[in-house]
Amino acid sequence: MQEVYQNIYLIKLPLPQNPLKSLNSYLIKGTGGDRSLLVDSGFNHPETEAVLMAELKEAGVRTEEMDVLITHCHSDHCGLAGKLKNEHNSVYCSSRDGVLLRDHVGEHFWKELVKQQRFMGFPYNFQHTDHPGFRNKNEEQYDRESKDPGDTLRVGGYEFEVVDLSGHTPGQIGLYEKNHRILFSGDHLLHKITPNMKFWNFDYDSLGDYLSNLRKMNDLDVEHLYTAHREPVPDMSERIGQMLAHHDRRLGAALEIISKEPSNAWTVASGIKWDYLGGDFTKFPPPQQWFAANEAFVHLEHLFASRRDIKRQAMGDVFFYSMR
Ligand SMILES: [Zn+2]
Repeated sequence: MQEVYQNIYLIKLPLPQNPLKSLNSYLIKGTGGDRSLLVDSGFNHPETEAVLMAELKEAGVRTEEMDVLITHCHSDHCGLAGKLKNEHNSVYCSSRDGVLLRDHVGEHFWKELVKQQRFMGFPYNFQHTDHPGFRNKNEEQYDRESKDPGDTLRVGGYEFEVVDLSGHTPGQIGLYEKNHRILFSGDHLLHKITPNMKFWNFDYDSLGDYLSNLRKMNDLDVEHLYTAHREPVPDMSERIGQMLAHHDRRLGAALEIISKEPSNAWTVASGIKWDYLGGDFTKFPPPQQWFAANEAFVHLEHLFASRRDIKRQAMGDVFFYSMR
């Protein structure tokens, strides 16, 4: 582990068989006998668990004296939280993602989730067992406490404010320390890679929420940005600009496709050039097709939510988008 700021340590946790490779977990050590806080936990996978436990031991931090904050409900951030929870500590997450975390245990949620493929026009049956989130999740329920935007957390001599970074998930949160200009930002903004965007339901424009929270993030005074994957972002403002431009281009590409003929998420994903496996969506393995089709779907939904000239029409179960 590496001390990245006073009392704040970066722990690189392996994410086996996942293109993200590792998670940046952060340990904020308590001062003067105070409790410590771990920000994000890694997959519920033996290799991830072994590294985390060895690092905590080396840091001299017992789980009884350490609370855990989950930035959002994805398995690479929360998978081990159930194992870290005991009767002496707390696991915090937002109330919105808390509901999702409760539902993620077991199979029902995942079976229902992959049924959304019918809206996108999948030509085959995508299985929930192929979803990486399903394979590395918590296996049992555990108690959580809600921390929502505006709430505060004192640890390691810092006073953090919980901030709203929703969009990547409906309840992603960050931790902001105004005096030290520190922000723990989960997956909201990453170096070189783009956080994946997912369809949740027809009432929630996840991309719209994500873009508006990116713009709000730009207003925060941040010098030390702690992201959950890869290397640090060298310039937050510049990266926010790149992400806004990236989604603008993708919205433009989706618009071009649907202006030719009514299209669904699958056909739009097939027409977009991706930065993965040579860019050809049709050759992706099923899990990546699931993520890419979701990505296309949220861009279509955002166009529909934000413009009056877009038409959305269901043909059977499949949703088609076109220009009016
Ligand atoms: Zn995530």
